[in-house]
Amino acid sequence: MKRWYLVSSFFNNPKSSLLGIDDVMIQENISNNIKQECNICNNVVVNHNLSKHEQLEILKSSFTDCNKCGLASTRTNIVFGDGNADTRLMFIGEGPGADEDAQGLPFVGRSGQLLTKMINAMGLSRQQVYIANIVKCRPPSNRDPLIEEAQACIGYLRSQIQIINPEVIVCLGSISINFLLQPEGKIKLGISKLRGQWQDFYGYKVLPTYHPAYLLRNPSKKREAWADLQIVMKELCLELPKTNE
Ligand code: URA
Ligand code: SF4
Repeated sequence: MKRWYLVSSFFNNPKSSLLGIDDVMIQENISNNIKQECNICNNVVVNHNLSKHEQLEILKSSFTDCNKCGLASTRTNIVFGDGNADTRLMFIGEGPGADEDAQGLPFVGRSGQLLTKMINAMGLSRQQVYIANIVKCRPPSNRDPLIEEAQACIGYLRSQIQIINPEVIVCLGSISINFLLQPEGKIKLGISKLRGQWQDFYGYKVLPTYHPAYLLRNPSKKREAWADLQIVMKELCLELPKTNE
């Protein structure tokens, strides 16, 4: 019989209401010396000793053959996420594009180059933040993820958030913020209404801004995106630049 384990952050984190049991299913690949029985529930084993990086690696290995939604049949690679597990700042995009599907890494195409510039403008490197997406497999022809695809996949993202426990999450674009806050797909608020305004996600501070792909099509909106990023910098007490570019 297959047994499943939850990672430690599920219980150690005060924001644990974020996750349902289904969200952090870690396969039986944790060695005996680092697991212990949970005193809160019987069927779960809590691991208190793993680093965030190790927890993410276990989560990643738990769905390498995921076929919970139709995107499994057209993907080349699952794009799990990338960056620093101990970061204070996490970015969430929509889903992999062609370059990301080919390389198995998030935001490595044209949008990714702009995202890197945005991160650098904040005085940070990509290696200092963590980047993930709502869906981990590429929607064909870069279409928007379907509600059922986002619903099937969102548990992995929630687990990533719970493990990383960032101080701030930046949602890139309307798909990202809407599916994060309402995975059942009820509300559809435009990003121009939501951007630059703090949202709450189970106690996590979430700031929506424009998706870099939108900024590539609408360069005049970069100024607003930069204003949003400065709100985040202020929250994280990062030094603001003397002049606004
Ligand atoms: N757009 C996204 O939303 N995510 C990626 O990883 C790449 C492009
Ligand atoms: Fe699984 Fe997510 Fe890929 Fe769907 S998009 S197959 S749920 S990893």
